[in-house]
Amino acid sequence: MKPKQFAFLISSLIFVLSVNAQTNKDSLWATWSDESKPVIDRLEAIGNMSKDAQGMYRPANLDTAYYHAQQQYKLAETHNNKKYMGRALGSQGSYFMNTQRNSKAHELFKKSMAISEEVDDQYNIAASSFNIGIIYFKQSNPGKSIPQFERAASIFEKIGETRLQGAALSMIANLYASQQDERSVEYLNSAVIIFEGLLKKDDNQRDRMMVTMMKNQLNSLSKKYNLIEDTTTDSLISADDLEKLNVPPDAPIALSKAGEQALVKGDLTKAEDNFNESIKQSEELENKTVTAAYLIAAGQAFFNNKQYSKALPYFQKALVLANRQEILEMQGQIYAYLYEIHHKLGHHRQALDMFQKAIKIEDSIVNLENAKAIIQLKVESDYDKQKAIDDLKNEKEIALQEAKTTSQKRISWAIGIGLLLISILAYLIFNRLKETRKQKVIIEEQKKKVEQSEKFKEQFLANMSHEIRTPMHAISGMINILERNNHPKSQEVFLKAMRTSSDNLVVILNDVLDLSKIEAGKLDIESISLNLEAVVENVIQILKYKAEEKGLILSYKIADDVPILVMGDPTRLNQILINLVGNAIKFTEKGHVDILVSTANNKLNFEIKDTGIGIPKAKHESIFGAFEQAKDSTSRYYGGTGLGLNISKQLVNLQHGKIWIESEENKGSSFFFELPITIPEDNAVSQDFISEDQLKTMAESLKDIRILIAEDNPFNQMIARDDLSYYFKNVTIDTVENGALAIEKFKTNAYDLILMDVQMPETNGFEATKKIRNIEQSENKGTKIPIIAMTASLLKTEIDNCYNAGMNNYIPKPYKLEELIVPIFNALKS
Ligand code: ADP
Repeated sequence: MKPKQFAFLISSLIFVLSVNAQTNKDSLWATWSDESKPVIDRLEAIGNMSKDAQGMYRPANLDTAYYHAQQQYKLAETHNNKKYMGRALGSQGSYFMNTQRNSKAHELFKKSMAISEEVDDQYNIAASSFNIGIIYFKQSNPGKSIPQFERAASIFEKIGETRLQGAALSMIANLYASQQDERSVEYLNSAVIIFEGLLKKDDNQRDRMMVTMMKNQLNSLSKKYNLIEDTTTDSLISADDLEKLNVPPDAPIALSKAGEQALVKGDLTKAEDNFNESIKQSEELENKTVTAAYLIAAGQAFFNNKQYSKALPYFQKALVLANRQEILEMQGQIYAYLYEIHHKLGHHRQALDMFQKAIKIEDSIVNLENAKAIIQLKVESDYDKQKAIDDLKNEKEIALQEAKTTSQKRISWAIGIGLLLISILAYLIFNRLKETRKQKVIIEEQKKKVEQSEKFKEQFLANMSHEIRTPMHAISGMINILERNNHPKSQEVFLKAMRTSSDNLVVILNDVLDLSKIEAGKLDIESISLNLEAVVENVIQILKYKAEEKGLILSYKIADDVPILVMGDPTRLNQILINLVGNAIKFTEKGHVDILVSTANNKLNFEIKDTGIGIPKAKHESIFGAFEQAKDSTSRYYGGTGLGLNISKQLVNLQHGKIWIESEENKGSSFFFELPITIPEDNAVSQDFISEDQLKTMAESLKDIRILIAEDNPFNQMIARDDLSYYFKNVTIDTVENGALAIEKFKTNAYDLILMDVQMPETNGFEATKKIRNIEQSENKGTKIPIIAMTASLLKTEIDNCYNAGMNNYIPKPYKLEELIVPIFNALKS
């Protein structure tokens, strides 16, 4: 956990300490609205009304406080009264700070300080410094925060604002404590002395509370630094303390404490009742942060007593509030607890999820202020205008409501807010002190484990992929050979079945690999110029036989306004379409499957529409999950792994698009996806799909070529030899079974091109390539022989290694025929 945990609660500290206990709202209002009164009195009155509305004696109404501060500024400006202009700006700053808009608050405090310096308003200079200190504290910047509090403390001391001086010193103490710095003890000690001095002059509940808690904190810090014997309990404020301080037993803080005690005694029901009541009471304060703090306090108590399933709902509710308030520090702490709880309860998936969220929050806290500043600048001006109008409307209502508030209730609010904020803050800082190191170690360990298992997974997949691809390549290649050689007609059906099965296996293999790449964030999306119609036609070419077999009509229509060329990733678009159209054909028995492409709102829209079995509404979302199918029986009847839609969705998301479905059972389905349109700057199409005829023409243009194949697997040698001889006329082919022999052959023969397997005994493909490149260099050969890798591993690292070794290109195993012919053609065409 971080030093800044719950720092935001401190922002209320200054009001807790600075506002006069006796604020008569009616007389303030009377003074303010009486224009015959001296301006200074009126400015003072509205200033106090603003502070009052910050939530000292009733539920806070921050917007009203802001409105008063604006009025104060206007009046001060009219009379060019800089002192009150400065103070009004300070109050406005507090409003932004309390509504978590720190950059705006910072700006206002700086302005406030500058004006106060002009007129030497020492009090407000110190207050601005204090508030800026709080902002730095919230930003986890103790280095900048401490000097601000130091300055504030010394000015407050000079002008006799002893209570505020004490508050600044206690802030410095907490900052040092958060850095595990022993100086915290010294500062806390000074703060205690100051508050004890105040108590002697004027005994009051608020200061007694401060002293009690600070002394307890001092005690635990001293213990921590071995300054005293470990004799006391760990609580910052005990139930006894609360009683001594006359805190009513139905105040939220007292109820929360009672809950803790009941838990220690093992009375779960009573504990729950007490906590729930404390939370209910806190809700009346209409401050979600405070309610969240009480929920967390309850959750922590159950957690500390190992009642994990009881702790869970409290943290979950707290999370909802913290998320709504967007308080990252609080969210981070809740996620950390939820992670521990799920972990303890054996909910491993949720635990991992929470862990990742906790880490993410930790990361984003670092960038929080910058990101927020940008967004706030945009929304704040409109927001302010609207707030001012709303406030005017609400003014009357609030006044009425407030009149009803009894004085008794006021006192309990004060206890609720004043004591609670300080005590929870101190409690959590204390708690954090205890847990920081432990938590850090645990999180680091978990992170390491996750990273390690990611690495293992990647390695495992790379190996498996390689091991499966190699025999697959042999099977797929042999089927090619059988298909193009004479074979009895009766065997056609078997050959076709073999071809389909082998293609399916490759698809599954690719899917699993893709999924792991997406998960690891290693799948890169290309953005090149592509011809949409060519992509769609290619999909139709590939799938038309399947449709014909089932008697389905497969068609496509591209609307006239769709640009011919767009930027995109043709391979991935093809993959998505093959998935969706393949599914449409698979799940349709009669009728048709249509691909419709159109544009709207600068987006490309794809619809894949079928007249098949449809999908029940309840499954419309879940089928996009990994390994999800609409029915348990789906894979039995139709086959499939449930990966296709998941991958399609992730591919669409990676391209900043979205995918969705409309479907009714037994009527058919429409899968839609949309992608942003970008028109390429030039008209060159970098990739098109190639027909068998084009392949033959390409191959025929290269005559009498000499190719060396380095490949240890005899099946693969056979396939490559057969494929090359089929396409290239008068080709000369030599084969060797390792890299060392390839180098020898290269030295003594003049080849046009080398096909180099990567994994071979003795000298592997990388080493052989490097050596050949060295030979070329030492012999000052002006040209380099094209070397094309043949690899069964398609991981990026492996491909990068190919290029790094000096290879020109790579061919995947198993390859489609164009994947073999086109790279050779590209390398040799003159
Ligand atoms: P697979 O097809 O391998 O099972 P997918 O992720 O592609 O996996 O699809 C998930 C599930 O969604 C399918 O099993 C099927 O139940 C349902 N589905 C997908 N497309 C259609 C469709 N066009 N018509 C009916 N059901 C479909």
